[in-house]
Amino acid sequence: MDFADFADRVCAVENESADLAVTSLVADLFVDAGDDLPVVARLLLGRVVPAWDSTTLDVGPALCHEALARAAGPNVTADDVADRLAAEGEIGAVAASLDLDGQQGLAAFGAADPDPLTVAGVDARLRDLAAADGPGSRDHKVDVLFGLFNRADSRSARYLARLVLSEMRIGVGEGIVRDAIAEAFDVPVEEVERALQVENDCGAVAVRARDEGASGLAAAELVVGRPVSAMLAQAGTAADALDAWESIAVETKFDGARVQVHHDPAGETRVFSRNLEDVTDALPEVVEAVSDLLVPTILDGEAIAVDESGDPLPFQEVLRRFRRKHDVARMREEVRIEFRAFDCLHVDGVDLLDEPLLDRRERLSNALSAVSGATPSPFRVLDDADAIADREAAALDAGHEGIMLKNPDSTYTPGKRGQNWLKRKPDVETLDLVVTGAEWGEGRRANHLGTFLLSARTEDGFATIGKVATGITDERLADLSDRLEPLIRAEDGTDVDIEPEVVFEVGYEEIQSSPTYGSGYALRFPRFVAVREDKAPADADSLARVERLVDRG
Ligand code: AMP
Repeated sequence: MDFADFADRVCAVENESADLAVTSLVADLFVDAGDDLPVVARLLLGRVVPAWDSTTLDVGPALCHEALARAAGPNVTADDVADRLAAEGEIGAVAASLDLDGQQGLAAFGAADPDPLTVAGVDARLRDLAAADGPGSRDHKVDVLFGLFNRADSRSARYLARLVLSEMRIGVGEGIVRDAIAEAFDVPVEEVERALQVENDCGAVAVRARDEGASGLAAAELVVGRPVSAMLAQAGTAADALDAWESIAVETKFDGARVQVHHDPAGETRVFSRNLEDVTDALPEVVEAVSDLLVPTILDGEAIAVDESGDPLPFQEVLRRFRRKHDVARMREEVRIEFRAFDCLHVDGVDLLDEPLLDRRERLSNALSAVSGATPSPFRVLDDADAIADREAAALDAGHEGIMLKNPDSTYTPGKRGQNWLKRKPDVETLDLVVTGAEWGEGRRANHLGTFLLSARTEDGFATIGKVATGITDERLADLSDRLEPLIRAEDGTDVDIEPEVVFEVGYEEIQSSPTYGSGYALRFPRFVAVREDKAPADADSLARVERLVDRG
C-alpha cells in the first residue's frame, strides 16, 4: 500500500467523529491492507514495534524540526519550524504546510529515492531509525527522517510527523482497533480482546483474525521472554470485597516496583517493568532469585528494597536501583532488592491466565518451592472483616503499604483495571473517640481487655458509637490493657465500664445509622489506628462532627 493512500484513509478516520463510523472505516482499511495489515494496525495506534516491545523511536521535537527544515529547502530553518509549531499548535499541520518534496538536489545527503513511499518502506525506515544507537545515531536519524519527509506529499507528511513524535491523535485507541479487527474479519470481539491480552501486538492479532479466524485467536499463547501488560487494581474497601465475593484472597501490598519475570532455563531470564521495559540488567537480584527454576516460567510480582534485617524500605529506595544502567554492582551494595512474587502466568508450556487465582497461587508456591531466592507474597483466604483488618494491621506494622483484596476465582486479565483486584483504600478520615468501656478477651487474649467501646463527645457527656477490636497487635493489646484496667469503674460479666480518659484514633469505612449505640450511629469496620496521647476526652471528636460526616456521605 502506498503511504499516501494510507494517509488518505487516516485522514478520513480523523475527520469522522462517531465511534461506530470510525470503527467501520478502520475495519475497511484492515480488509484492504493486504500484506501491510500488521504494520497498518500498529501505525494507527502510533506504534512501529509491537506493544510488548518497549523500543522507542526516540525522536524529539528538535530532531524532527531539523529533518523537516532540511526537506523544506534552504529557506527554512529548524527555528522556523518551531515558530510555525507555536502558531499552528500541532506538528502535523506544520509538516503539511511545508513544501517538502522538491529537494531532489539534496537527495545525496539523505536517504531519498524517487519511488513513492510505501507503508512497508516507511515501516522499514522507522525500524532502522529505532535501532540507531551510539555516536552518530542522531545524524542518522535526521537523515532517515529527511529521506522520508522529502518523499512525502503533504498529507503523508502530516501523519509521518505525528507518528514519529508519538502524537497520532486521530481518535483511534486500542478499543477501536479491537472492534475493527472483529468487524473486518467477522470474529467475536471477546476473542480478539483475549488474543490482544496474550499476544500484546495488534498487528499479529489482526493477521490471526484474518488468516485463521476465531480458532487462530484462541490459539494465541504467551511466549516466555515477551511481556504482557500487568493486571491492575482498583481502590476498594473490605466492605466492597465482602459484598462482592464469598471469600477474599488477602495479600500484602508491597511498596515497590512491579516486575514481570520471564525465566527460560534453556535461555535467559528477563525482567520487565510495568511499562514492559526491559530492566533485567538493573536488577540482578531478581534474576538470581529465579535462576534455580527448572522450567520456563512467567511470574508477576514486586521488587522491593529491604534493609539488612530484610525489613522493607520506602519505594524511593527501589527507584534508586530501577532502570539504572551504570554502577549496578556498586548500588547493589547500597540498596538491597528482593523479589516478592504474587502471581504466576505460565509454567512449563502451560498458560495460566484463564485459571482462577487460587490455582495460580498454588502453581506459584509449587514453582517457588524449588528455589531459595524468591518468596511468594503472604496470602490468606478470609471471609471476615475483623480478620482482614488484622491482616492489614500486621502488614502495616511490618512496614508494608497495606493489603490487596483479590477475588479468589478471578482469572488474570492483562492490562485491565478490573473489579477483581482491590487495593484497600485508606480510610478517608479518622475519628478521635473516647474509650468508655471494654470487654475481657477470650482464649489467647483472656487476660486482657480485648474489645473497646468508643464514644463521641456530646454537650453533656459521651455517646457510644461502636466497638473496636481489630487493628491491634498482641503487644499493643497488652499495653492498652495495662493502661485501661486501673480506669475500670464497674464490671458486669465480661463487660466493663471505663472512666473516660483515653482517646483512640479510629479508622472506619462508613458511618451508619444504628439503634445499637447511644449516639444513634455505628461505625462500619472500625479499626484501631493509634492512642491519641496528645488528646484529653474534652478534645475528642463530638457527635456534631460525626453527624456532619454522615451528612457529607
Ligand atoms: P497502585 O500502584 O497504587 O495502583 O497499586 C497497584 C500496584 O500495587 C500494582 O501495580 C503492584 O505494583 C503493587 N502491588 C504490591 N503488592 C501487590 C500484590 N500483592 N498484588 C498486586 N499488586 C501489588
